[in-house]
Amino acid sequence: MSFPPIHLHDTRRRAVVPFEPLEPGKVGIYSCGPTVYAPQTLGNMRSQLMPDLLRRVLLAAGYDVTYVTNITDVGHLTSDADAGDDKVEAAAARAGQTVAEITGHFTEQWATDRRRLGCLEPDIRPAASEHIAEQIAMVQTLEAQGHTYVIDDGVYFDVSTFPRYAEFAGLDLDELEATGRIDNLEAKRHPADFALWKLSPPGVTRLQEWDSPWGRGFPGWHIECSAMATRYLGDRFDIHTGGVDHIRVHHTNEVAQSECALGVHPWVSIWMHNEFLDLSGRKMSKSAGDVLVVDTLVDAGIEPLAFRYFFLQAHYRQQQEFTIDGVRAAGVALRRLVGHAVAARDEVGGRVDGGDPARTEPFREAFWAALADDLDAPKALAVASTVARSADLTAADRWSLLADFDRALAFGLADATGVDAAEVGGDDVGPEAQALLDERNAARAAKDWGRADELRDQLVAMGFDVVDTPEGPKLRRR
Ligand code: AMP
Ligand code: ZN
Repeated sequence: MSFPPIHLHDTRRRAVVPFEPLEPGKVGIYSCGPTVYAPQTLGNMRSQLMPDLLRRVLLAAGYDVTYVTNITDVGHLTSDADAGDDKVEAAAARAGQTVAEITGHFTEQWATDRRRLGCLEPDIRPAASEHIAEQIAMVQTLEAQGHTYVIDDGVYFDVSTFPRYAEFAGLDLDELEATGRIDNLEAKRHPADFALWKLSPPGVTRLQEWDSPWGRGFPGWHIECSAMATRYLGDRFDIHTGGVDHIRVHHTNEVAQSECALGVHPWVSIWMHNEFLDLSGRKMSKSAGDVLVVDTLVDAGIEPLAFRYFFLQAHYRQQQEFTIDGVRAAGVALRRLVGHAVAARDEVGGRVDGGDPARTEPFREAFWAALADDLDAPKALAVASTVARSADLTAADRWSLLADFDRALAFGLADATGVDAAEVGGDDVGPEAQALLDERNAARAAKDWGRADELRDQLVAMGFDVVDTPEGPKLRRR
């Protein structure tokens, strides 16, 4: 199969466009990373899973991918309006811990949870606090070109010097001018002007501060992404990702300062933004106290990969409502898929090249074409589950496809636990469950897959997994 042409939605052009790498065969991706002063919620994890899926699709298509995601360990202010304290510093002071303890702890939580959700390790994971020199250099370049001005509390980017400023997010700057003045920053020339470097107030020593040509202080938040992306991916690169909340301010500002400092346009070929994971109809957010994390699922008896399956059930550009029952149901569907895959795998001794192309290729093409079409994961997942349960495919067909699909799905099918005979069946199954299993076997024999699935779901609700064994389906206590 030749890989289908990849199309992705570009926020800047507001359209799904063909993906054309700057350099043939290579892709550079930058994702805005975690702010490590609080736990990374399942909402934040949606913004990790989206680029992970993207990266896996590009790898499957044969690209040499460089994936960079940063750690925001300085410069994120308690207000988006360039006012307030550095959130990392504030969290450290509140907890009576050092900055390193706070950032180390939450960086570890983020990295661990990424792994538990099946995300590939970043190729490069720079921390903002370790790239102060690059950030200062970029601000100096902007200053030399007349894009900045200095007021009491810092160095600011003057948006009037970048005529394209409002274009990226379709902003109405006059509207902002009329309504957006922020009390304590009267000295800004325009409400959209943003901090490039924040100065420590006279007589105050911050926990995190550095010397700069303008005085001691710390970098503005936006400049860190521009400086680190440029350092690791060059003056222009292919894809930048983040949550939709970043479009209007953070990414608009990244574009302004980067295109000015580097003299390029467009700085990034394709901007991809994931929609929110919602809780009760609004964005799940740590600042609103929604500390739902991967451990919350584990505590409820749900395996982390269930959340990956749940993520794949919605398109990344659609809002997705989080419920624990929704993720639990995704976990059941995942176990079903894994059960089928493991049975097929073990039946063919793990051989991936045993399928008959006449039967497998239409499925293979449908799966990758769905993902190549702006990451249509729900469609791809539907193909995978059809394959897993198809009676028209042999075990060799099924495993050849599912092993291939798992490069994107990342359910760990190659190593998933097979059937442990000792755990299966036994005296504790009971007559009621046994009767449902017999009925399910009869439904399968009659090729009534819908009924068979219903019966399996009833068994799952009673606390059993249906496990396919060489002697036929058996029950295993969950
Ligand atoms: P933060 O640590 O809040 O700066 O967020 C890190 C990343 O997570 C950003 O790309 C945000 O856009 C994204 N994000 C935050 N909350 C959500 C949510 N509820 N759903 C999806 N993405 C989110
Ligand atoms: Zn960023």
